[in-house]
Amino acid sequence: MKHVIIGGVAGGATAAARIRRLDEFADIILLEKGKYISYANCGLPYYIGGIIKNRQNLFLQTPASFGKRFRVDVRVESTVVGIEPTEKTVTVRQADGSEYTETYDKLLLSPGATPVKPPLEGIDLEGIFTLRDVADTDRIRNYLDTHRVKQAVVVGGGFIGLEMAENLRHAGADVSIVEMANQVMMPVDFSIAAHIHQHLLQKGVRLYLEQTVERFERRDDNIHVCLKSGKIIQANMVILSIGVRPETSLAKAAGLKIGETGGIWVDKYLETSAKDVYAVGDAIEFPHPLTGKPWLNYLANPANRQGRLVADNMVQGNMFAYEGAIGSAIAKVFDLTVATTGLAAKRLKQMNIPYQSSHTHSGSHAGYYPGSMPMNIKLTFDPASGKLYGAQAVGYDGVDKRIDQIALIIKLGGSVFDLMKVEHCYAPPYSSAKDPIAIAGYVAGNIVNGRMPVIQWRDIQVANPDEIVILDVRTREETAGGQRIAGSLNIPVDELRERLDEIPANKPIYVYCGVGLRGYIALQILMQRGFSDVKNLSGGYRTYAIATAPVSQSK
Ligand code: FAD
Repeated sequence: MKHVIIGGVAGGATAAARIRRLDEFADIILLEKGKYISYANCGLPYYIGGIIKNRQNLFLQTPASFGKRFRVDVRVESTVVGIEPTEKTVTVRQADGSEYTETYDKLLLSPGATPVKPPLEGIDLEGIFTLRDVADTDRIRNYLDTHRVKQAVVVGGGFIGLEMAENLRHAGADVSIVEMANQVMMPVDFSIAAHIHQHLLQKGVRLYLEQTVERFERRDDNIHVCLKSGKIIQANMVILSIGVRPETSLAKAAGLKIGETGGIWVDKYLETSAKDVYAVGDAIEFPHPLTGKPWLNYLANPANRQGRLVADNMVQGNMFAYEGAIGSAIAKVFDLTVATTGLAAKRLKQMNIPYQSSHTHSGSHAGYYPGSMPMNIKLTFDPASGKLYGAQAVGYDGVDKRIDQIALIIKLGGSVFDLMKVEHCYAPPYSSAKDPIAIAGYVAGNIVNGRMPVIQWRDIQVANPDEIVILDVRTREETAGGQRIAGSLNIPVDELRERLDEIPANKPIYVYCGVGLRGYIALQILMQRGFSDVKNLSGGYRTYAIATAPVSQSK
């Protein structure tokens, strides 16, 4: 059996190695247009920033070492320029421009994605870069080494944009981020992104939200990044990080079916519309397990998982169905960690899926043990059954393990009630006896079973203050210095039973405290003593304050 693989990094190299393990005698040809295979593209921003010092550490294998260990015919600088599914051949262009034809029994496409580069005036100026592969990385590093980059602009506040912003700060540059949306990190909801906004500002990064680049101009040694608003930001270097598109040019030209979101269509065995032609990774679309609708995700874990699974199907026949990815992702943004899995509230809203959400604030481990750091978890779930749709978390320590655990529960079809069943290992330096995800589960469970009706920070923003009572049940000390929601009535929870007559009984009551716990206690007191329309502010004042904090936009 002869297997030909296009693309030698995440999906392609994984598949090649697995095919070899399954079939010692297969012919395997790995065709890669770049000079390198099986390298750590996720590590590229950290090499640019000098965190990863040795360039060599980016390369997990060389073409020669990979070829030897797995007896794979690795051909780098070999670009596939055509596929003939009926003939079962591919046309390969070599570095010298010459072309040849190669036959296959089974073909795998893992060509990845290409960075979006809109046709803006000046976009090809020297000093403007996209980051996708080792060649881009070398260009950026070389530019940093040979120019005095005092000011850098990152266009796009997604995962790679934020990683680059941090790494350019490490490299000594003043950094501005220009982002078209009203938040960075689009996969998370605004209330989670708000933490990142404040953190970036604290780290000296300038944020230009809801701003669009119109053109770039070179004046003397500077690039002028001209925004539609008329603002001009001067920079010595620009990183364009405004997204990627699935690399489908080969597939399109070969007549393979392209799906509705623009990725290569594959069936559950990851086989394309052409027999014996398979595809994996950033280039494909696949139904989202929660919505059933095809979607694109550009993440290394699914590419690696698909690479292994597709190898099984290529060698043993179509026996192994792929379950789909729900989009679990994480990023380090200076000292913060932000992670997400499943569907955020804004996506549920777009898709008209009824949902409820909860915000909880916990410590990363027991508060009495030194070094406990705050962590905010947001869950989204079905309001009737509690089926979990998604989770997002932002904090400093332990964010990853919480989101990973929740991701598995979501993939297994679990609900908020399953979060209470998570049996976590506990000692004070690592967690609390009630882990943050158990707390999140208890709170969400109370919402689903009606014990705790909630309102969100946005509901308070749009509410008519004359028609509601906003009841602040924190201590007087906590409200000092104006740290309160405007127009709220302050009755500390421990005085509530004695002061019920101060609360108008004919209006809806929105209760809040610091993070939501005392608000819940107050809500129970009020509801059991005859107040019928009471809701607790999810996440309390801490969520409200961060979500409504002005993002001091750079002028
Ligand atoms: P790739 O790994 O991109 O491999 C595709 C290969 O195909 C490329 O080497 C390309 O040269 C080759 N190719 C394309 N067309 C042809 C052709 N016609 N002929 C021959 N070869 C061809 N994901 C995460 O989950 N976490 C992270 O922290 C993270 N960080 C990232 C940071 C950066 C800077 C980048 C660029 C990506 C990051 N990703 C991250 C995304 C992750 O790397 C991708 O999702 C994953 O590599 C996709 O695997 P793939 O096999 O589909 O494509």
